[in-house]
Amino acid sequence: MRFLRRRPAATLPDDWVDIVERNVAHWALLDDEERERLGDLMEAIVEGKRWEAANGFALTDEIRTVIAAQAALLVLGLGFDWYRAVQAIVVHPSTVMSHEPRPGPAGTMEDGPFPLLGLADSNFGPVLIAWDEARANARHPEWGHDVVLHEFAHKLDMLDDVINGTPPLHRREDGVRWYEVCTGELALLRVGEGWPLRDYGGTDPGEFFAVATEAFFDLPLELEAAKPELYRVLRDFYRQDTAVRARRAAGREEGH
Ligand SMILES: [Zn+2]
Repeated sequence: MRFLRRRPAATLPDDWVDIVERNVAHWALLDDEERERLGDLMEAIVEGKRWEAANGFALTDEIRTVIAAQAALLVLGLGFDWYRAVQAIVVHPSTVMSHEPRPGPAGTMEDGPFPLLGLADSNFGPVLIAWDEARANARHPEWGHDVVLHEFAHKLDMLDDVINGTPPLHRREDGVRWYEVCTGELALLRVGEGWPLRDYGGTDPGEFFAVATEAFFDLPLELEAAKPELYRVLRDFYRQDTAVRARRAAGREEGH
């Protein structure tokens, strides 16, 4: 007797390369080997995770493909297993309003509603993504804001059970440097010296990691120049050299 392979609810469409080429600016930066690896990861994410649409919304191949491409980019140097805390991906057509109180400045709580572009619930809950944001961010990495990279970064952070700005590092001895660099940069961000990081990263160490991740992928040259130590700890963790990739692509454009 043999086991039947469970048929996935969704598969990567045949024209996934066209969809990614049209919608995801990062694609142009990748070399052939990286593109092949990205496709394998996208297939694993589309087939291996549960995808849900918010009420009254329907998922399309384009939606799954564009979100999966950005999520795959994040773990291009890590592998699919790093998404073991992602149980489901819930896509809303647009920004969702949250009515939960949230932490404000200096230990206060502020009442909602607040716009939520995305949400990575604690533990093994779903990742919630606003499609209009995800699509716009995929086309405009120069904004330095990417809701998919942000929310999936939280999922990496929580692999060690707690969102504290530190995902499981590859070597235990990296912990001290990670902590020193991130704590120092979080303090600088809070006094207005965070560029190119978004101010929202000053909320807490968890948001700092997610926001720094967005800059690492979307503004790598700016991050490397302004905050070289932060760039290096992120490069070592993600096992990708995004600045080298950006320079290589720029060189290709100039015809070198
Ligand atoms: Zn966040």
